[in-house]
Amino acid sequence: MENNYTDMPIEKFRESGRNLVDWIADYIKEIEKYPPLSQVKPGEILSRIPDQPPQTGEDIEKIISSIDRILIDGITHWNHPGFMAYFNSTSSLPGILAELLSAAFNANGMLWKTSPAFTELEKAMMNWFRQMVGLPENYWGIIYDTASISSMHAIASAREQLNLNIREKGMSGRTDLPKLRLYCSEHAHSSIEKGAITLGIGLDGVRKIPVNNNFELIPEKLEEAIKEDLSKNIKPFCVVATVGTTSTTSIDPVRMISEICKKYNLWLHIDAAYAGVTAMIPEFKWITDGWNDADSIVINPHKWMFTPMDLSIYFTRKPEVLKRAFSLVPEYLKTQVDDEVENLMDYGIQLGRRFRSLKLWFIIRYFGVDGLAERIKHHIELAQEFANWVDEEKFFERMAPVPFSTVCFRYNPGNKSEEELNKLNEKLLEDINASGKIFLSHTKLNGKFTLRLTIGSIRHERRHILEAWELIKSLAEKIVL
Ligand SMILES: *Cc1c(COP(=O)(O)O)cnc(C)c1O
Repeated sequence: MENNYTDMPIEKFRESGRNLVDWIADYIKEIEKYPPLSQVKPGEILSRIPDQPPQTGEDIEKIISSIDRILIDGITHWNHPGFMAYFNSTSSLPGILAELLSAAFNANGMLWKTSPAFTELEKAMMNWFRQMVGLPENYWGIIYDTASISSMHAIASAREQLNLNIREKGMSGRTDLPKLRLYCSEHAHSSIEKGAITLGIGLDGVRKIPVNNNFELIPEKLEEAIKEDLSKNIKPFCVVATVGTTSTTSIDPVRMISEICKKYNLWLHIDAAYAGVTAMIPEFKWITDGWNDADSIVINPHKWMFTPMDLSIYFTRKPEVLKRAFSLVPEYLKTQVDDEVENLMDYGIQLGRRFRSLKLWFIIRYFGVDGLAERIKHHIELAQEFANWVDEEKFFERMAPVPFSTVCFRYNPGNKSEEELNKLNEKLLEDINASGKIFLSHTKLNGKFTLRLTIGSIRHERRHILEAWELIKSLAEKIVL
């Protein structure tokens, strides 16, 4: 063996690195041979891993060879074109290469000084992406890990903007603080409530506004709620509008919501984690109507822009409020250029940060803005086609409009109660996912069990959607309860 004080020999790395890249290339090339949804039982993978760590080092080739032996059965293959559940994040090959490079630099972008290229590439990519989705120059952007964290920073900024001295004095034990209220639709993502929990707003501080038949927030109900709260001395401070809700991808009426926010001086945050990337497509510019009035916006390239987990983009018109909420610079982090540069640690709770902008740099350059927009547009077209098939099939029923690439539907052979239909569709979903061919997820809409099929993989072709539909129909016919 080599001596015990150094890293792996560089030639060994070169060789095993090539082998691993080959493994990845074969994996992606042959991904359709795996079932998209892992079929293991809880504990199965754990039982294959030794209880104790190896006392002496193992050969890297042995480690790589155990991917197939130990892990692969327990992987749910997000990169599989049969993965049509949730919102399917897929990683493109340029994105995978960028991840490798990020680990090689291992740069921590807490300060400009701790890697000037890190801070400046992130700034450049935020400028590119801002233009790609058509936001004006006064939007400042930063990369966080997830939309949940981006939205938490939005809510923190909204709270900071109130000037209630919460940063210094906190919220508990204070009699001088009003109860704070945030509004979102009943279809908003759970991350909004988690942000409220984290920031001491509490679940009671989140008021869910009813939606119309298309699952879009009703602005009149929003204004009524605000007025009622004001009359009870509750302080409204933030509204979250969702563009592309998680269940049905519905679009809240941002323009009307922004008028209400202006009238009552409330922070407007737009959660466009999934659908925001469609703003790149000329025919979809309309989704950004009213965005220029938003105080903050989140869009996730790791959802529908072929970026390996994780990468969420947060834009705000008021970075100074974000900085006021979070900047805290201990002596050992002061640098001589602090007046000239942006130190990213000042804009959030984390100090250390991964070099995520490399992924955007590789992906945007490799595919080009047009290439990305064309791929996303193709997914929307495929989803419209699938929705038409559902509409034309007698025993199937569409459950929501399809503005983007997600179709909500159910099997409905007639003469069944709602309860029976729920059971039937739950069983159908089970059968679909046990088939090992495709993976779908579900939601409940007005109490109705609904299947969700989402298209957005960089590996999605028309044949996958066609095969999925044939499979769903044939399993529905055979269903026995
Ligand atoms: C997926 C999603 C989120 C959460 O995204 P993470 O990056 O996993 O935190 C939030 N909002 C919407 C609308 C989403 O679709």
